[in-house]
Amino acid sequence: MSETAPAEPLGQIFRRLIGATGPISLMHYMGESNARYYASRDPLGSAGDFVTAPEISQMFGELIGLWLADIWIKAGREQPVHYVELGPGRGTLAADALRAARRYGLEPGVHFVESSTALKDVQLATVPGAQWHHDLSTVPLYGPVLVVANEFLDALPVRQLVKTPDGWRERMVVPEGERFVCIAGSQPMDAAVPEARRAAPDGTIIETCPGAAATIYEVAGRLTEQGGAALFIDYGHDRIRDGSTLQAVRAHLKVDPFVNPGEADLTAHVDFATLASIAQSRGCKWLGTVPQGRWLRELGIEARAEALSQVAPQHAGAVRTAMERLIGEGQMGALFKVMGLAAPGWPDGAGFHG
Ligand code: SAH
Repeated sequence: MSETAPAEPLGQIFRRLIGATGPISLMHYMGESNARYYASRDPLGSAGDFVTAPEISQMFGELIGLWLADIWIKAGREQPVHYVELGPGRGTLAADALRAARRYGLEPGVHFVESSTALKDVQLATVPGAQWHHDLSTVPLYGPVLVVANEFLDALPVRQLVKTPDGWRERMVVPEGERFVCIAGSQPMDAAVPEARRAAPDGTIIETCPGAAATIYEVAGRLTEQGGAALFIDYGHDRIRDGSTLQAVRAHLKVDPFVNPGEADLTAHVDFATLASIAQSRGCKWLGTVPQGRWLRELGIEARAEALSQVAPQHAGAVRTAMERLIGEGQMGALFKVMGLAAPGWPDGAGFHG
């Protein structure tokens, strides 16, 4: 096979693997699908599969930059300081945030944690001074870290457990005709279910995200050790609940996650309640988990939109539309949440108590 031959469809690889060794876990299915999906393309923007907040308006990244500068100044302007972004996409958020932060004297070293080679190329053009990492372990161990992650945790693979008449089982994936379907695995998984949730009706599904838990564990540990603050922005819930939230998006439409793996973006809702308790268990401050719309309003998005409109009145309509998408209740304002974390000795940061 020549090096330029198109990659074998992931669905075909899954069929072969399952044929040889048996069903694969849903977590394996989602992890491999997203690794394939992100490795080979830039999925963002109107010509791609989905649009994220920083791609809607520069105001989003700017307000994040101001939040970071504000908390860093109030904490005593400690140096060296590092801006660390997880899954930076096109680098748009970082570019907007760093430009805004610089006006307040915050000029951190820039570290990107990114697994996609295709997106790394785009980020290199947007933020030429950045350093890249495969995971957080190689990010500097000295000096406060200012961590930002927008729509990163939702792309990490989830594990699903289902209650059957024989007890709890992991949800596994097998082919069925042209698509894939979930079945209950054969191994008992009762020990993986918290005791308080074990006695549930048959058919109940519990979803966990070990990758998100590990990320928060690591970030919270770094904040406690090194100082700093973190913002995790994603769609999700702030109360523990049951059910599958796995979904797939392609060309701005919801599609079946079990058809054409690797060709659509697979995501799941972020369980902010669990993540907040993990952060606190590491001695880190949980500032709160608030709706994105409320947080952006508290940070002054309306005044920022007004200022932009005065500078360029011809864009006033577009600025207002973008703001509505970011803060509107029926749009991103309520479904998306902002979770703030800070080092024990750091201030509370803007927008979390109002
Ligand atoms: N934050 C950006 C992009 C969101 S898309 C924005 O808001 O526009 C998800 C991002 O996470 C992409 O950059 C993707 O390549 C990256 N990503 C997904 N899984 C990852 C993993 N396991 N490790 C590192 N980066 C990952």
